[in-house]
Amino acid sequence: MGVLDMSLKGKTALVTGSTSGIGLGIARALAAEGADIALNGFGEAAQIEALRAAIEAEFGVHAVYVAADLGVPVQIAAMVPQAEAALGKVDILVNNAGIQFVAPIEDFPDEQWDKVIAVNLSGVFHGMKAAIPGMRARGWGRIINIASAHGLVASPQKVAYVAAKHGVVGMTKVAAIELAGSGATCNAICPGWVLTPLVEKQLEARAAETGQGIEAVKQSFLAEKQPLREFSTPAQIGAAAVFLCSEGARTITGISLSVDGGWVIQ
Ligand code: NAD
Repeated sequence: MGVLDMSLKGKTALVTGSTSGIGLGIARALAAEGADIALNGFGEAAQIEALRAAIEAEFGVHAVYVAADLGVPVQIAAMVPQAEAALGKVDILVNNAGIQFVAPIEDFPDEQWDKVIAVNLSGVFHGMKAAIPGMRARGWGRIINIASAHGLVASPQKVAYVAAKHGVVGMTKVAAIELAGSGATCNAICPGWVLTPLVEKQLEARAAETGQGIEAVKQSFLAEKQPLREFSTPAQIGAAAVFLCSEGARTITGISLSVDGGWVIQ
């Protein structure tokens, strides 16, 4: 493989939370480079089947769906072998599934804290735990954890999310050190604002609270955080993931790659 070669032909990738948003963008970007794909995430069976079939038709790869609630450790432990059975192996694991809940600490419901930590933090641990043995055995692997700008800096009202994402950044470094010499790397991607259902909910809440239109709220979200006043797209996060899987990135490990329009440089 040449150093600038992004081809992932012969590789397989399990992307959690890939029935929507960033995860779907990453799954499609990896498939576009030839990787076989295991999708995961919630949604209507018919919609998921349409996403799966579209990946096969557009990119000529094999695509399967593996159900699992990433908040439930035993389901994660079962999901990885299911993907390995369906695709033959899991070379690339993208821990992307994530949820948000917004409230000040003193009003933050305990059950929402538990849920965000379970999916956004513990889900990443259980995914890595299940996938690492196969990567070690084959002498090649790529783990990509989707953290966030909120893995590096804070915002108010997102205590569980910020705690979980900072934890993901730390966990990524631990995995990178443990995997050194195995042929597997582990990196985090830290997106800023990406227009997905997760962010659309926050835009709608702010619009309802302030009486502003959605377009005005979008501009204020960007103005608050990103010098480049534009949203990143799921395809751009996918491009970063493809790069981290490439031969050119084989000595990049343990990093947090910001794709955030300048959010965390300020
Ligand atoms: P999204 O809501 O569009 O997609 C989330 C995906 O995760 C969906 O496929 C959903 O079904 C799945 N999911 C949710 N809970 C799950 C569970 N318990 N088990 C299995 N699947 C589950 O959100 P998104 O914006 O695409 O977010 C994807 C990731 O990117 C998250 O980890 C999020 O924190 C992170 N992120 C998003 C942004 C952004 O601006 N959108 C910024 C930084 C980081």
